[in-house]
Amino acid sequence: MENMKALRRVILGRLFDHLREHYGIELTREAFVDGDLSLRRIDELLAFKSDLRIGELRSALGRLEDGTYGTCIVCKVRIQAERLLDDPARRCCPGCEKRLSRAAMHSGHASLHL
Ligand SMILES: [Zn+2]
Repeated sequence: MENMKALRRVILGRLFDHLREHYGIELTREAFVDGDLSLRRIDELLAFKSDLRIGELRSALGRLEDGTYGTCIVCKVRIQAERLLDDPARRCCPGCEKRLSRAAMHSGHASLHL
């Protein structure tokens, strides 16, 4: 997928906003989003902070590093850039997302946010 750097900034921007809103963070937005933070440094910043959204965004960063970012985890089709910009933590194409949330509903669980 093209534009990994731009996507990384989008993910980091969401992560920063979430951290600031829920936990407080000592870095500025610029330092966090535009700085060249390694995953290791990001993990240090995330230590003792955990919730579903952090997990989603952290796993998106991991997928970006290992090269699997932007493809549907179910059918391996490429996820459209607009969908990733809307929510950079997305892991599925629209079809799989629908199927999964239907399956989650039928099994009585709250619908998964993918
Ligand atoms: Zn799919």
